[in-house]
Amino acid sequence: MFIDTHCHLTNEYQDGIDAITQRAEKAGVGIFICATAEGIDIEPALKLAELHDNIFVTTGIHPDHTDLNPSDFLTDKILNHPKVIGVGEIGLDYHYNSETRKAQIELFEKQLDIAYKHNMPVAIHTRDADEDTVAILTDKHKGVMHCFTSSWDLAKIMLDRGFYFSASGILTFKNAESIRETFAKIPVDRIVIETDSPYCAPVPYRGKVCEPAFVIETAKVLAQIKKLQIEELESILSENTQRLYPKCHVKL
Ligand SMILES: [Zn+2]
Repeated sequence: MFIDTHCHLTNEYQDGIDAITQRAEKAGVGIFICATAEGIDIEPALKLAELHDNIFVTTGIHPDHTDLNPSDFLTDKILNHPKVIGVGEIGLDYHYNSETRKAQIELFEKQLDIAYKHNMPVAIHTRDADEDTVAILTDKHKGVMHCFTSSWDLAKIMLDRGFYFSASGILTFKNAESIRETFAKIPVDRIVIETDSPYCAPVPYRGKVCEPAFVIETAKVLAQIKKLQIEELESILSENTQRLYPKCHVKL
């Protein structure tokens, strides 16, 4: 069974969560880690996780939302919830919001401190901000580079720090040769997969609303890159996910 390690299940999906998870399960995707990004999506994500055994949650505030105070949302009560398995997505994004750099760094550092205090892994978003991301993260942090599209140079640094790397639908894009080359070099025991749905639909679904069932397309490309049978890859990725997120304990 595959695990979609990063999907935004609280976003609007036309036909509702049950249809989404049923299609995923039919495709062989049975566990979902619902990432939050906006503060207000945390409570709805927890509700989903309480209703569904196979939905887990990471709680965090994305760098787009520098107006929010993380201590309002990442409370002890929320982080101690049995289905909250990590802090994310958090990080830096200078692609669209370079004017908020200072506030982004402050928000990121606050959330890293909270994660560290709770001994929780972090799911990192970094876009056009690799230098600062590397400088702010230290050896004491652990977690995953979500939707990893950065260079092998960054991968090397984060590998040395014990991080995991999440392959998204972007791995399937025609023009993503350099990302495929990077994933070819990353040891397979440090890789997990995600859709980042509803964004980033893989080939052959580009232009459609992405959903967790589509993570299979990323798995197929990764299996080719790693020269593994899909079943072998499936069990390696599941074990990796459970090492990365120890609170995500489900029978596989
Ligand atoms: Zn995301």
